[in-house]
Amino acid sequence: MMRAARIFEDLSLRVDELAVPAPGPGEALVRIQAAGVCGTDLHILDGMIKPDPYPMTIGHEAAGVVEAVGGGTALSPGDRVAVYNKLFCGACEQCLSGRNNICDREPGQLGFNTDGGDAEYVAVPERNLVPIPASVDFATAAVLTCAGMTAVHATKLSGLRLGGTAVVDGIGGVGILVVQAARAAGARVIAVADSAEKRDLALSHGATDGVVISEAQGYGELPAAVRELTAGRGADVFFELVGTTDTMTAGVRCLAKGGTFVATGYTDQPLNVHPIEFILSETSLVSTVAATRLDLEAALGLAASGAMSVPIAGRYPLDGVQDALSALRRRAVLGRQILDLG
Ligand SMILES: [Zn+2]
Ligand SMILES: [Zn+2]
Repeated sequence: MMRAARIFEDLSLRVDELAVPAPGPGEALVRIQAAGVCGTDLHILDGMIKPDPYPMTIGHEAAGVVEAVGGGTALSPGDRVAVYNKLFCGACEQCLSGRNNICDREPGQLGFNTDGGDAEYVAVPERNLVPIPASVDFATAAVLTCAGMTAVHATKLSGLRLGGTAVVDGIGGVGILVVQAARAAGARVIAVADSAEKRDLALSHGATDGVVISEAQGYGELPAAVRELTAGRGADVFFELVGTTDTMTAGVRCLAKGGTFVATGYTDQPLNVHPIEFILSETSLVSTVAATRLDLEAALGLAASGAMSVPIAGRYPLDGVQDALSALRRRAVLGRQILDLG
């Protein structure tokens, strides 16, 4: 038997006991060492993202050690691995063109609609396991399976060029990693945060400039602030990670001619911009969802080279999962929290 944090149909979250899954052909059983606690988990707690069926083990950010393998895998017990949480078929048009994050068959996603990693063990297809470089710890690797790979993916798709200027709007769990990915791509990075603490966190993780905009103040002044920092020109890329109509509208207006607006992550608010604002400046709109397996490999490589690090805000035992999520809901977390299962 094993212990796992499970969400039930009445939306209660409990640490429960269930059988250790058996790895099938082409699969491996992973003994989890660290699991990241993510803002997206709150959407599952709130019933906005619905597992099918309930109950389900939550958690989509896991790293650990291979415990056992099914038939036909090249992995061995003892291998350190990060779990790529999006299941993919490997054979459809999108998978074959390297875009397995938007697999046509959508077989499922760990911790979203199929049992995830806030558990002592998880069984996953071998193609979802990425080796962890020796110099990268499990906590870092766990967070890179969500925020880190998402940051790499968004940066790649942004077309950011060496010497360009990027604005990263929102210094949360993903934003702090986008700052680092954009720096690694050779850009100047202007971090936009809602507190001085978050701005300072961004500056200590590679941001070249920081702007603090409070919710009360509103985003109306952001375009002017960005133009002031760029001698009137504006930014080449705007990474939008806050997701309100205000922040998105301001983001488009922060761009230089020919700039790129990058929408990353989920929001229920509309993007409300007159098309002329896009057309006359040939602005590009790029959207990104999660990341490919290759992006996870790249994120782990960046961490191994020292170009990407994860500020760990708190470590909890599996039984502390509710405390960790409550802290996240209060927005009382600077950096990322993890469950320590090692
Ligand atoms: Zn996540
Ligand atoms: Zn596919």
